[in-house]
Amino acid sequence: MSTYVSAALRKQVIERADSRCEYCRFPQSVTLLAFEMEHIISEKHGGTTTLENLALACPYCNRAKGTDLGSIDPETNQLTPFFHPRTQIWQAHFILSGATILPQTPEGRVTALIFQFNHPDRIQERAGLIAIGQYG
Ligand SMILES: [Zn+2]
Repeated sequence: MSTYVSAALRKQVIERADSRCEYCRFPQSVTLLAFEMEHIISEKHGGTTTLENLALACPYCNRAKGTDLGSIDPETNQLTPFFHPRTQIWQAHFILSGATILPQTPEGRVTALIFQFNHPDRIQERAGLIAIGQYG
């Protein structure tokens, strides 16, 4: 049940994101995979198809997130919302250490965990991009 996103709106989302996944910062330019218009608040939970509620997401992050809004932070056991790319700053929630994304906050932890930022395949892919100056 995904609402149609117009070409004009899609273009605005991609430009604002500098063609990178707004969660894991993977650059769209290095892949043939189509990045997706991700509803930050999913439509299931009342999110709208507007510039404010859309984020550019790589297929890995988008599929891992699904319609979820958050998860249980393993450190505090509290229900915690995911990192919000419109209202929060990536660098305040994550640090890149080598090719691993280290979460720094509860929101960062649930996002890195559920989105599987540090799956071995994704770390390996990121390391390859860092080596050619395309990530970091
Ligand atoms: Zn991503």
